[in-house]
Amino acid sequence: MLFALGILLSAAAAATTPDAEIKTRAEALAPSLVAVRRDLHAHPELSNREERTGHLVAERLRALGLEVRYPVAKTGVVGVLRGGRPGGVVALRADMDALPIDEQNDVPYKSLTPGVMHACGHDGHTAMLLGAAEVLAGLKARLPGTVVFLFQPAEEGAPDGEPGGAPLMVKEGALDDPKVEAVFGLHVGLGVENSRAGWSDGALLASSDTFTIEVAGRGVHGATPHLGLDPIPVAAEIVLALQAIVSRQTDTQQPKVLTIGRIQGGTRFNIIAEHVVMDGTLRTFDPAVRADIQARMQRTVKGVAEANGTTATLRFQDDGNPPTVNDAGLARLAVPALERVFGKDGAYRARPLMVAEDFPLYGQKAPTFYFLLGTRNPAKGIESVNHTARFDLDEATLPLGVRALVTLAWDFLAPATPRPAAR
Ligand SMILES: [Zn+2]
Ligand SMILES: [Zn+2]
Repeated sequence: MLFALGILLSAAAAATTPDAEIKTRAEALAPSLVAVRRDLHAHPELSNREERTGHLVAERLRALGLEVRYPVAKTGVVGVLRGGRPGGVVALRADMDALPIDEQNDVPYKSLTPGVMHACGHDGHTAMLLGAAEVLAGLKARLPGTVVFLFQPAEEGAPDGEPGGAPLMVKEGALDDPKVEAVFGLHVGLGVENSRAGWSDGALLASSDTFTIEVAGRGVHGATPHLGLDPIPVAAEIVLALQAIVSRQTDTQQPKVLTIGRIQGGTRFNIIAEHVVMDGTLRTFDPAVRADIQARMQRTVKGVAEANGTTATLRFQDDGNPPTVNDAGLARLAVPALERVFGKDGAYRARPLMVAEDFPLYGQKAPTFYFLLGTRNPAKGIESVNHTARFDLDEATLPLGVRALVTLAWDFLAPATPRPAAR
């Protein structure tokens, strides 16, 4: 009996996440994390065009001895690391694409591609996930299960008419072989102070739906609107009526944003326009609220146009992104892991943000958990927000991100609270 207990205890101890070793290994990688991140930063590539990046990632994973599938979902890479001990399967995800922004930072690693910039920190995500692969490969013999590394293209949105991003990764089987049981991901920046980790056990990021509204008109001389059909006042009414959905028709306790970001119509001050086109975005934290507002928008656009004797159409582009809502069970496991890496104060419950991600689409296949990694550091002049020409990240945080990813994966494979033994 005592003998059996001894075996059980030593088995549990062997499987326990080796925090100290992960820390040492991640910190030893600091110079190479910076070097990889700077190399990617200097060579940014737009969505679905991450040729150099995907190739670099695939080569590095092969050099670490991982099984590599490449390309997946256009330019993506899936790496598989099978541990020396039996166990489950967990996935870690990074996105790799840059944005069409002309970098304004004066840094040695400034973008070498005019008009393209890693302004969302995906260079950091890619470098950290490569670092996590290196740390875990070094501990492979003791790893109790399998880790799948997802290097995803086109998080910022594939070019018009092209599939891409998380949905294409899922469609091409990135989570199927081996069958992934949980997916973890992170995002840098977003205003979070350096070396802190923002988590949630529910909604963390919003859904996002891009839409286009077209109002039909009939052009005539601007002095005789009654002889034509002016779409501009109809468009104005639609804009206001849509805001009434937010302010008057839906629960004030359910956060939502409905923005019309662009209106185009007309050619000259004294000509009634032929039509008006408007684009916008809808953000919510709840799939039911999202569906309800979409239906109300259809009704409103149609109704206002009809009342004015014209027609208008509302079209949502592709499927949009669902809200990023963390699985509560995974959060129970993940929060203690983040607290061990970032400290009790460093890991904090984050307020949900209205920005969006395609990460939750992995949730079609497995529960997901996502957190914010703080890389803002005013003392170093690193203050600009994501998607701006002066965005940068505090590279001193990179080893922390590596530790967090490795710790989350290992904790999932070897839960601190042992599962009840089979009888
Ligand atoms: Zn972004
Ligand atoms: Zn991003």
